[in-house]
Amino acid sequence: MADAKYWTAQCASHGLVKVKQKTMPTTCKEEIQCGKRSFRRCGNALTEQLDVTEKVTNALGLARQLAVLENS
Ligand SMILES: [Zn+2]
Repeated sequence: MADAKYWTAQCASHGLVKVKQKTMPTTCKEEIQCGKRSFRRCGNALTEQLDVTEKVTNALGLARQLAVLENS
């Protein structure tokens, strides 16, 4: 299964950013407001990419189990 992976990375403008995509993110896709209604992509190079897929999916699995417990 080609699921998306979860990443954290450092952006010079945004600090720690979280990204969900299949390949390692290289540029920041956070949106920056540059007018009353206009946004643009940050586009800064990302550094210190970390694959946190396991942590995130574990957390999601735990949340699902808790939801099941609460509903039973
Ligand atoms: Zn950024």
